[in-house]
Amino acid sequence: MSMLERDRRRVWHPYSPPQAGPLFEVVAAEGVRLSLADGRELIDGMSSWWAAIHGYRHPVIEKAVAEQLERMPHAMFGGLTHEPAVRLCERLVEWAPGNFERVFLSDSGSVAVEVAIKIALQYWMARGEFGRQKLLTVRGGYHGDTFATMAVCDPVNGMHELFGANLKSHLFAERPACRFEEPFEERHIEDFARTLRSHRREVAAVILEPVVQGAGGMWFYSPVYLRRVRELCDEMGVPLILDEIATGFGRTGEMFGSNHAEVSADILCLGKALTGGTLTLAATLVSDEICGVIAEGEPGALMHGPTFMGNPLACAAAGASLDLLETTPWRNAVKSIEAQLRVELEPCRTLPGVADVRTLGAIGVVELAEPVDMAKVQPAFVERGVWLRPFGRLVYAMPPYVISPADLSALTGAIRSVLAEVHCA
Ligand SMILES: *Cc1c(COP(=O)(O)O)cnc(C)c1O
Repeated sequence: MSMLERDRRRVWHPYSPPQAGPLFEVVAAEGVRLSLADGRELIDGMSSWWAAIHGYRHPVIEKAVAEQLERMPHAMFGGLTHEPAVRLCERLVEWAPGNFERVFLSDSGSVAVEVAIKIALQYWMARGEFGRQKLLTVRGGYHGDTFATMAVCDPVNGMHELFGANLKSHLFAERPACRFEEPFEERHIEDFARTLRSHRREVAAVILEPVVQGAGGMWFYSPVYLRRVRELCDEMGVPLILDEIATGFGRTGEMFGSNHAEVSADILCLGKALTGGTLTLAATLVSDEICGVIAEGEPGALMHGPTFMGNPLACAAAGASLDLLETTPWRNAVKSIEAQLRVELEPCRTLPGVADVRTLGAIGVVELAEPVDMAKVQPAFVERGVWLRPFGRLVYAMPPYVISPADLSALTGAIRSVLAEVHCA
């Protein structure tokens, strides 16, 4: 039986029916190329969902993981500690914009957001304000697939309809309407400001993705909006959770999405590119103020503890990825990718069925009027030698920062031709 047949019998894929749509067996990955079992090579335009920013099999990351593997692949984190985790937490506090005191490590982005929510709730309980149980966010967001995180995902394109009976109902303001490059006007924040003001005594925290809304719609909004959110949170005394799981580590052209607005969070979530895409790891950073209040209150401890917390292999990979961000010209690379995406995706705008084209940092998006037919479009990209994975009405590329101009042209060329010849045909 072929690998694909075996997969179809036993394996469940993300957001897929038991027998997934078109599937391709990948056997190796190196640099920006994925090798398929049938010998074809694909240029990767997805960075394995924002993660593989330095490309696959980067020798610096592999060496760090291999050396750590010889010492200790894992040890429980309750009552024990180790250098890879301590060093990583020290560095994340140094790197992150803001006054963070402490880092909680976990295995995935969704859990990092769950932990951020727990921290906000514990903060208010420690202060004796038990009525603060609601989160305020904006429409169009994505924060993960677990129950607490689904509840703050966009209520329409998230899974509220399906799981609503089990989701806590939170507060949603309008999606930030002001585009990244557009002049911000005060009316753009009105709905958010009104909602926060009228619920100021019930809100435990505001949560949003800085500047780029990822899986909720690949939308880029004005940094001034984010700055106004920060000001309003300060005014109302409400903590701000920034979810930088997709935007962190250079993707938007700045190290963190919040750098565009020069704001800092009270609680910050990191994940995805944290290990350069090698192993699964996420982190929740907490301000000194919030740490202090939780320590003084009941029960005094943060009530969370993943089994694989602080996995040394993942911490070693993350340390090596940070080294690469310190030593490689990623900023120039992202700038060049942005310029090239802007030029080469622009012609898509005139194709029938295209609603919008936008680029920010190493992210290029073509928004369509109608959802793509994945059964047709996915194989069409593979036939053209590229790996892209559209969702709904969005076709987008966020390649590893090390992609060459020629490979990037192949990606954008494939997007243009698949839209013209397959999607609109
Ligand atoms: C992917 C993502 C998450 C969830 O991370 P997982 O590792 O998939 O659990 C949360 N927030 C944002 C902004 C993301 O892009």
